[in-house]
Amino acid sequence: MVSRVIPVEPFDLVIFGGTGDLARRKILPGLFRRFTSGQMPEGARIIGAARSDHDDAEYRATITEAIEEFVPKDRRDPAEVAAFVERLSYIKVDATGEDGWKKLAKAMRDDAVQAFYFSVGPSLFGALAERLHLHKVARPDARIVVEKPFGRDLASAKELNATLAAHFDEHQIYRIDHYLGKETVQNLMAVRFGNVLFEPLWNAQYVDHVQITVAEEVGVGGRGTYYDKSGAMRDMVQNHLMQLLCLTAMEPPTRFEPDAVRDEKLKVIRALDPVPRSNIVRGQYSSAPRIKSYADDVENPDSRTESFIAMRVDISNWRWKGTPFYLRTGKRLKARMSEIVIHFKEVPYSIFDEDAGRHANVLTIRLQPDEGMDLRVTIKEPGPGGMRLVDVPLDMTFADALGEQAADVPDAYERLIMDVIRGNQTLFMRGDEVEAAWAWTDPIISAWTDRGDRPLAYDAGSSGPADALMLLHRDGRRWRELAT
Ligand code: NAD
Repeated sequence: MVSRVIPVEPFDLVIFGGTGDLARRKILPGLFRRFTSGQMPEGARIIGAARSDHDDAEYRATITEAIEEFVPKDRRDPAEVAAFVERLSYIKVDATGEDGWKKLAKAMRDDAVQAFYFSVGPSLFGALAERLHLHKVARPDARIVVEKPFGRDLASAKELNATLAAHFDEHQIYRIDHYLGKETVQNLMAVRFGNVLFEPLWNAQYVDHVQITVAEEVGVGGRGTYYDKSGAMRDMVQNHLMQLLCLTAMEPPTRFEPDAVRDEKLKVIRALDPVPRSNIVRGQYSSAPRIKSYADDVENPDSRTESFIAMRVDISNWRWKGTPFYLRTGKRLKARMSEIVIHFKEVPYSIFDEDAGRHANVLTIRLQPDEGMDLRVTIKEPGPGGMRLVDVPLDMTFADALGEQAADVPDAYERLIMDVIRGNQTLFMRGDEVEAAWAWTDPIISAWTDRGDRPLAYDAGSSGPADALMLLHRDGRRWRELAT
């Protein structure tokens, strides 16, 4: 199979916060990979913009180090790294002051795509948007990319949307949810809407339930102060898990185009039932040998923030009424694993003996660690001994199925940045989508803050609180084992 890499138009990409963690760890290594894949045209330029003092040479050296740290050795050739950083320059810009803006305005070309990546805290988004206009840096067709968190509730998300809307049209605003940039997430759409096999079964008549898990082994790390004010519901469920749920549950869009896809996702969010208290389990990790507890990690002994959440979500529409979606995410769990699992119903009536066993099809869409899909189908156990049934996987690990091509699967960030340059908003959240997600999340969070609920303790390295298991047991179901 021949890989088809489509180059993009020449561009000026300004990364505000170009010296920060996200830029060093994700954005620039991602752009380097697109450079080595031949997707970056001659006229592509990247301008790092931040508060600290650097000249171009220092900035290039910093980013060379970042690439050496975050791109595996066998995927970077020193000559290519050197050629890539030649595309970089640096301008000292203060988001809240007037420093550097004139120089930035002068550096922008008229004949290249303009994109501004706001890789800074959300409190600076307004100031950046305003100054981009004030100093005539951005053309009317410029694009801005904003990072999560997009607000911490409906009110702040509305405020943020209004701030950006004061200077940019919706079609210029790219709200990143990097889960949407994952190869498998797009494959979910390809599988659903590119085959006749699945879609007729993709409803409450044939699907027993859906499980969406995003489990992490790591704790809160250096993000303790931010995380303790946020928690798993705001940090993971409102955005990433919600997006995965939407793509799984949405109706077929009329076309694979930004607004058609986003309209369908929005309809799903609006059809979500309010979640009663009995359908939510919140947890917080306690210490384990050589592992600090959550409270110690965030240095807040009385913290009531959840590092784990499991919930049953019901969707009131024709397609899904009666089929629960179980969501689960947490830190310091047994394994790092993200997947969407569609559990189909058993056959309506089995013609086989009881001892042949009862089986149901399961479709697993793995986001990490190894992106891929696996469909379990029931067959006859080979050999003598009568009709005994057994489940076997029809496995489609991308690396096996696609060989070299799979090795070039772009990371979520690099794909999304290239989509910004192409002007394709399909994989970005629209303002009304974000607001609808907060409108659903807000009452859930305020109910437990009003009551002063404490999350349940769970051992670091476990599968979360025992009550999370009960959430499914009481419905006669079981979570998938957390394992890699
Ligand atoms: P960081 O603190 O490492 O970097 C912040 C950057 O902003 C630095 O380059 C700093 O110089 C610049 N900056 C700060 N104040 C400025 C000002 N007044 N004018 C100009 N530049 C200024 O932060 P980060 O971890 O890179 O995160 C950036 C954004 O991305 C945040 O909104 C964060 O929530 C979001 N985010 C980060 C990650 C991650 O993995 N780091 C993941 C998801 C979202």
